[in-house]
Amino acid sequence: MPTIMSHIAVPLAVGIGLGPRIISRRLLITGTLASALPDLDVIGFRLHVDYADAFGHRGATHSLVFAFLLGVLALTLASRLHANRLPAFLFVAFSAASHGLLDTFTSGGLGVGLLWPLSERRFFAPWRVIEVSSFGTHLFSSPRGVAVMYSELLWVWLPAICVCALLYALRRRYAAQNDK
Ligand SMILES: [Zn+2]
Repeated sequence: MPTIMSHIAVPLAVGIGLGPRIISRRLLITGTLASALPDLDVIGFRLHVDYADAFGHRGATHSLVFAFLLGVLALTLASRLHANRLPAFLFVAFSAASHGLLDTFTSGGLGVGLLWPLSERRFFAPWRVIEVSSFGTHLFSSPRGVAVMYSELLWVWLPAICVCALLYALRRRYAAQNDK
C-alpha cells in the first residue's frame, strides 16, 4: 500500500480544488476517511484471515462495490454532511475507489480485488511505480522508508498537487465568467 498520508492526498486534492461550495468541510473530512477506510481490513491478519481470501487484505474493502456502497451511505447522509446528494455520493465513492486503484500501482503484495463480489481476481496496474510500504516501515529512519516516501511524493503527491491547482484555476475562471 501507499501510506495513509498518500491515500488521503487524493480526496484532499480534489476536494480543495473543487472548493467548499461543492465539497463542504464535512464532506471533505468524510472523503478523506473513506480513502483510508479500506485498509482496516488488516485486522484480518490478526484474525488469521488469509491474505488471498476475499476478505483478506486488499480484498472486499478495496473493491469498487465497497466504494459504491460508501457513496450510497454518504448520499443518504448528505444533509448532515452539508452537501448536495450527488456530490456527496460521487465524492465519497471516488475517494474510496481511489484507495484500491492507487494500491494497484504498488510494487509488492498481492493485487487488489477491484471486482469483488463479481470476481475474486486480484489486479495490478500495468505500471507498478509506487514502492510498497508495510505497516512496519520506518519512513524517516531507513533507506526503505526514504524510497517509499520519494516514490509517493513523485507518483501521488505531485500529480495530486497538479490536479488541485488545475481544479482551482478552472473554478476561479468559471467564477470570473459568471461575475461578468
Ligand atoms: Zn490498501
